[in-house]
Amino acid sequence: MSAEILAQIASEVSVCTNCALSKTRKKSVPGVGPADSEIMLIGEGPGFNENEQGLPFVGQAGQFLTELLGLANLKREAVWIGNVVKCRPPGNRDPMPEELAACDKFLERQIAAINPKIIITLGRFSMGKFMPGAKISVVHGQMRKVGNRFVIAMFHPAAALHNPTYLPQIKADFAKLPQLLDVARQELAKSAPATQVAESKPDYEAPQSEEPKQMKLF
Ligand code: URA
Repeated sequence: MSAEILAQIASEVSVCTNCALSKTRKKSVPGVGPADSEIMLIGEGPGFNENEQGLPFVGQAGQFLTELLGLANLKREAVWIGNVVKCRPPGNRDPMPEELAACDKFLERQIAAINPKIIITLGRFSMGKFMPGAKISVVHGQMRKVGNRFVIAMFHPAAALHNPTYLPQIKADFAKLPQLLDVARQELAKSAPATQVAESKPDYEAPQSEEPKQMKLF
């Protein structure tokens, strides 16, 4: 079911003309990965190689991302990888607010379909969606609960390649991921059974705490 929804979104993205990026794209890049991924990684937008291949993070930054995932004992194929904008901003410029807004409904539907436990943001545009106003230099490597899932903000791999002073930090942040993932899994497991019990309670069954009050009536 989720896989079909993702395929449907990808086909809509491939013919989307909701913003000007559609005029200059070669291939749209809807995102890739298992429909039941526990983890979604969300970057900024396709670059030159991604625009050629229609796949996310396949250039130099992508190779580095694969390496970083390795530091967290994660295989690239096990996670979903995508971007806040699905078409390449010309010359790799920053995405414009109207481009982010036009693409956001696709990302929202992808998140709803996959329902990941953890979202890892790569770079400030992706971080801005989940942690408005946060500073990447302050919050990188930190995990926050956003709604019913966890979000971890990471530096963008391309930024770290461009400015090697970030390299030790981004590597340390990814190396810390397994611990954070464990915390997220434990926290979500704690909240899950309580919700199920509440939902499965039949309407007609009076809550136990009300019984003593009723007894007093007789
Ligand atoms: N940078 C991104 O943010 N996304 C890609 O897909 C590739 C490079």
